[in-house]
Amino acid sequence: MLPYNFDYYKPQSIKEAIELYQLLKLQEKKPMYYGGGTEILTLGRLNFIYTDAIIDLKGIPECNAFGFQHQELIIGSTLSLRAIEENKLFPLLSDTSKEVADYTSRNKITIGGNICGQIFYRESVLPFLLSNSTVIIAGPKGTRKEFINEVFHKELRLDEGEFLVQIVTEKEYLKAKHISVKKRQQWKTGYPLLTVASLKKEGFIRFAFSGVCPYPFRSIQMENKLNDKSLSFKDRILTSFEYLPTPVLNDIEGSNEYRLFVLENTLSYILSYIGGEEHE
Ligand SMILES: Cc1cc2nc3c(=O)[nH]c(=O)nc-3n(C[C@H](O)[C@H](O)[C@H](O)COP(=O)(O)OP(=O)(O)OC[C@H]3O[C@@H](n4cnc5c(N)ncnc54)[C@H](O)[C@@H]3O)c2cc1C
Repeated sequence: MLPYNFDYYKPQSIKEAIELYQLLKLQEKKPMYYGGGTEILTLGRLNFIYTDAIIDLKGIPECNAFGFQHQELIIGSTLSLRAIEENKLFPLLSDTSKEVADYTSRNKITIGGNICGQIFYRESVLPFLLSNSTVIIAGPKGTRKEFINEVFHKELRLDEGEFLVQIVTEKEYLKAKHISVKKRQQWKTGYPLLTVASLKKEGFIRFAFSGVCPYPFRSIQMENKLNDKSLSFKDRILTSFEYLPTPVLNDIEGSNEYRLFVLENTLSYILSYIGGEEHE
């Protein structure tokens, strides 16, 4: 339970949710969109989050969508990570999201909550960054469709009152050769020491990272170095480190030096697995 009272709303349409948010703001409330509620409850109990009006998005049909429309996979923001894990329409996404938290929490955690939450790992965003997905965002000014790589910088950039409705991925990315590797320091269900997701498209290998820095990222400069076939795997990896964003995390999960050591080994494994075509 939360240490404060709040009102609970479950709108049945995008329009109703947006209007409700605006009305609650006019009443000087602090409304918050709600997916699975795990972060709102966990951080709320510690007084890191405060809301007096919860707007549960799970009653909105578009937010529950999961399936193909023409050549695109549509994933509603309120789908649980467990549903995504079990229904393997996007295998790289299933592989990445099945490592988030523990089995019971994944019944509740939604894909929208994982991407939009404050807890900075946001591991489920990695496959979307690699597959040039688009996001459907709804807000007081209407609904917009944006490339995720243009609106996700450390976090999904949402204006006041906006929420994530869906993520759309072209079918051609879903069956690309891929791998997701999560390394933990603590327990089998802990936060990542680091996670690297990788996808190979037209001979070029893409990489996205969580747990290396205090936000998830994909770096084109790092990818260019990691794909440089004139270099050995080791040299590709070490030169790619020159383009790592800073700061590299140095926390209870592991020091920055240890993270870089594990990252080097992880990238070496991924390059071998996914076919980096090494030339000594
Ligand atoms: C025990 C535990 C372990 C965890 N382990 C991991 C881990 O290993 N890896 C990892 O990446 N993360 C991990 N997390 C973080 C977790 O994925 C996030 O906290 C996520 O926000 C929870 O999803 P939710 O649907 O319950 O979000 P909620 O609690 O419902 O919402 C969280 C935040 O996101 C906002 N939000 C939710 N849905 C939307 C939407 N559609 N549009 C806009 N804003 C929205 C809410 O307003 C709120 O600010 C863990 C969390 C917990 C509690």
